[in-house]
Amino acid sequence: MRVLVVEDEVKMAALLRRGLEEEGMAVDVAVSGEDAMPRAGATDYDAIVLDVMLSGTDGFETCRRMRESGVWAPVLMLTARDAVEDRVAGLDGGADDYLTKPFSFSELLARLRALARRGPVERPAELAAGGLRMDPATRQVWRGEAEIALSAKEFSLLEVFMRRPGEVLSRFQLLEHAWDYDYENRSNVVDVYVRYLRRKIDEPFGTDTIETIRGAGYRLKKD
Ligand code: CA
Repeated sequence: MRVLVVEDEVKMAALLRRGLEEEGMAVDVAVSGEDAMPRAGATDYDAIVLDVMLSGTDGFETCRRMRESGVWAPVLMLTARDAVEDRVAGLDGGADDYLTKPFSFSELLARLRALARRGPVERPAELAAGGLRMDPATRQVWRGEAEIALSAKEFSLLEVFMRRPGEVLSRFQLLEHAWDYDYENRSNVVDVYVRYLRRKIDEPFGTDTIETIRGAGYRLKKD
């Protein structure tokens, strides 16, 4: 198992390296986000241990940029304090897990092993399909540079489409994923909301991203 440790504190980095090497892992150390990004792009790491507190580009930004450049190695973030907002920012930025300093080394190892089992699956924090881009964390949607304002329900419905681009989704599937059991019990509620969505994501742009598949449902064009 090959691990990249990104930590600017020399002592901490050395400690991590020694501990991981004792477990038989191959360890590279990067001392900054700038140093880490090209390494992560060049080598197929099984896991990346990324400190949030880095001089220069911090851990959140480093993680986001690695994901943007197509690096999907599992990332374990080390956060300095037990701050909820740090963990949220880390996970929403594309990290897979986090550990708060000070941590127990056995827990770090267990988490790394669990992450490595998952492998480098592509799991962008932002979704992109049909010429649209969506950030589920900030609940924003764009077509090109234009941000599109959607209601909560329209957003949920579009998110279902964007998580399954190119797939024909039945009205039932759409209902099941975007509405809870208390949904307005109208058989055409999906059609109504698809119409709302088209008015916002397609009509102003002259596009037709959501296709009607007769007798089957709807499909979001991949691109
Ligand atoms: Ca640090």
